Amino acid sequence: MAIDFSFTADQEAFRTAARAFLQKEVAPIVAEMDEREEFPAASVRRMQEEGYFGIPIPEQYGGLGLGKVGYCLFLEEVGKVDASHGVIVGAHTSLGTTPILYYGTEEQKRRWLVPAAKGERLLAFSLTEPGSGSDSGAVRTVAEKKGDHWVLTGNKIYVSNGREAHTVVLLAGNDVKLGPNGGVTAFLVDTDTAGFKVGRCEKKMGLHGTSTAELILDHVELGPDHVLGEVGKGFHVAMTALDVGRVSLGAASLGGIEAAMGEALQFSQNRTQFGLPISEFQAIQFKLADMAMRAQALRLLVYHAAAHQDRLGTDPRAWTRLERAEKTRESSIVKCLASEWASEVIDEALQIHGGLGYIRGTPVERAYRDARISEIFEGTNEIQRLVISRDLIARGW
Ligand SMILES: Cc1cc2nc3c(=O)[nH]c(=O)nc-3n(C[C@H](O)[C@H](O)[C@H](O)COP(=O)(O)OP(=O)(O)OC[C@H]3O[C@@H](n4cnc5c(N)ncnc54)[C@H](O)[C@@H]3O)c2cc1C
Repeated sequence: MAIDFSFTADQEAFRTAARAFLQKEVAPIVAEMDEREEFPAASVRRMQEEGYFGIPIPEQYGGLGLGKVGYCLFLEEVGKVDASHGVIVGAHTSLGTTPILYYGTEEQKRRWLVPAAKGERLLAFSLTEPGSGSDSGAVRTVAEKKGDHWVLTGNKIYVSNGREAHTVVLLAGNDVKLGPNGGVTAFLVDTDTAGFKVGRCEKKMGLHGTSTAELILDHVELGPDHVLGEVGKGFHVAMTALDVGRVSLGAASLGGIEAAMGEALQFSQNRTQFGLPISEFQAIQFKLADMAMRAQALRLLVYHAAAHQDRLGTDPRAWTRLERAEKTRESSIVKCLASEWASEVIDEALQIHGGLGYIRGTPVERAYRDARISEIFEGTNEIQRLVISRDLIARGW
């Protein structure tokens, strides 16, 4: 019996505890957070105290040691309650801690990973620039070598957690002529370093609890101990983090789908038109059936990918080319399907609510605004389709 789709008793207990925590600490503040467009500092602090900012990090580095499966269980539960909290945890954990765990030296893990996993310091990840979005190798922030130090100058944009983070995993060009193959390096930049400044914070359609910040680097001087991984290999660091991020984004989208389906189901059983609950109409029943099909399929995809990443381990040097390729294809498939299914399901849930679904403050209205970005960030879905199809052409199915 090689296939077992069940969670362990410990994983189920973790999910139950997380669900209770989120209902108590997060659910009550979400509507106001969304309306006021405020970073939810108090609930984030509570999550940090519970260890939820270090779920997949091994205990020896201050985390809960629950792997990607445990991490996805948590993000699925968060996704049911609020997408902003999911992005805050995801930007910190998938994109901030993964690069340090996978590529950091022992000294870097002690200095940056342990406090991050314990929830004492918040991380962000900064790849995007005004001229470098999907073409992420076209980074123009310059990292110039001066003796054994580096001097970083440039502008980054759209950084989740950028306003609040203590440290940013930041990609800069050590040789812009070389591009992604040898020309981009990952740095650990503490936000209190001289020359580092947070610029404009974007007003957004959704995700009102998150900051999306511009970062300005004006001759930020860093010692050699701030280089993460090898000089020129920053693109590998970023792509490894994004593979983790894409699966965890899938888990949060799954939670969003399940919550929207629950809202739609309940509403359709209570709303009466033409003398009947609208759940009696086949047009509504078919929408609900389509939601259930997507939730069921996505659950299998997300946890298959998470378990796969747990089996591969956290040492990229140990992976074969084939293992890397399989992991990347699978992550892109999860991200693409999850984000599109979440948009579709939430759209249909809003439709089932009729006019009420369009009224500011209903959960489904907020979910509709929050969900759309998942088709864009962590690589647009067009880019995911490029990744999938290129691998398909190279390796076959
Ligand atoms: C709320 C929010 C949070 C974010 N958080 C972060 C973060 O924490 N860290 C970070 O580094 N970045 C972050 N981003 C940036 C995000 O990852 C980028 O916006 C995204 O990768 C797309 O880049 P772009 O906006 O420059 O669009 P562009 O790359 O300019 O793309 C525009 C359009 O062209 C399409 N396109 C581009 N190239 C191709 C191609 N070769 N083939 C087909 N279609 C193509 C795209 O799919 C898209 O539809 C965030 C963005 C937002 C809005």
